[in-house]
Amino acid sequence: MACKIDKSRPDPYCAAPFLSPAITPDGFKMCSSPSSKSFPDIEFWNEEYMQNIREQWMNDIVPTDCEDCYLNARPVQGASSIPNKSKIIPLNFQHLYLARSNRCDLACEMCSATISHTWDKVWGDGKVGIIDNDFDLTPYLWETENIAISGGNPVLDSKINDIIDGLDNNVVKRFLITSNGSVFPDRMLNKIIDKELKCDVLLIFSIDGPKAFNEKARLGAKQERIYKTINSVIEKTKDIDNIKICIETTGTNESVMHLIGLYEEILESIDMQGKDGPYMIGNICCYPEDLALHNANEETWKYMEGELFRFFIKRQHITPLAMQFFNMVNLFCNVVYKSINRNNN
Ligand code: SF4
Repeated sequence: MACKIDKSRPDPYCAAPFLSPAITPDGFKMCSSPSSKSFPDIEFWNEEYMQNIREQWMNDIVPTDCEDCYLNARPVQGASSIPNKSKIIPLNFQHLYLARSNRCDLACEMCSATISHTWDKVWGDGKVGIIDNDFDLTPYLWETENIAISGGNPVLDSKINDIIDGLDNNVVKRFLITSNGSVFPDRMLNKIIDKELKCDVLLIFSIDGPKAFNEKARLGAKQERIYKTINSVIEKTKDIDNIKICIETTGTNESVMHLIGLYEEILESIDMQGKDGPYMIGNICCYPEDLALHNANEETWKYMEGELFRFFIKRQHITPLAMQFFNMVNLFCNVVYKSINRNNN
């Protein structure tokens, strides 16, 4: 049975299907959620599938294809109301989620061949290789306000430089780029710095745990190298206040067991040189099922609500990093708590 929207939430709707399509290496999607369907042609944006999705949101129904994300993670564009109540939305990229290529040098356990060609070599049958989505964004970039660039590892994709060139720094209100930290080429970093965007610029590095765990979960990762990359980016951006350094941690039902170790390792390994941060971003894993956070077992939940929660609640006012972790732990606990409640009802 279709699920109704939950009006007790502060943001009960998802605006993503009413904004702009997401671009992924294998096509186009209604949003950046890993669970959303990919289409080969951009025309999907106003075809029957999308009209149907929008109609359901407008009627306070969570579309079946959104349920996993809505119930177990967080809509990408949570909203208190639908921004544009129409089944047809003219094609635009004001809100651009861009994963242009699956070039990636790691093979993380929660990833897939459409995001990492290395993943396919390690876990798949090695046939996919690098795929690029060469959709021409040039006519649209003048109005792009929000841009989130991921991959693959987008810093390995030199075509991203041309996309940054095309942005209008008087229009962009939010810019973020996520990488795995194996490298951050000067050419791309200088491109971002020289663009002199007026908005916050988030440079996000993915780390899911301390060395032993992260190098196992994110196969190919070299922890010392990641911290070296981050520290070198900090060195080059330390005097630029609107460039923020963030660490994104994917909360799987395994990584949550390693957050204390990650906190302690970051304190030792990252030198912010007087710059605020790093800021922590909790990314909720809702697939594959065996790693999904909402499938945490009883033992993991006991640890999360007990030792893990206590560790950060005690320290939240001691270091800014502990406060960042506390908020992330709260988010992860909330996902597991809601899932337990749902299963008990
Ligand atoms: S609810 Fe989730 S899956 Fe549905 S459109 Fe929003 S972000 Fe995408």
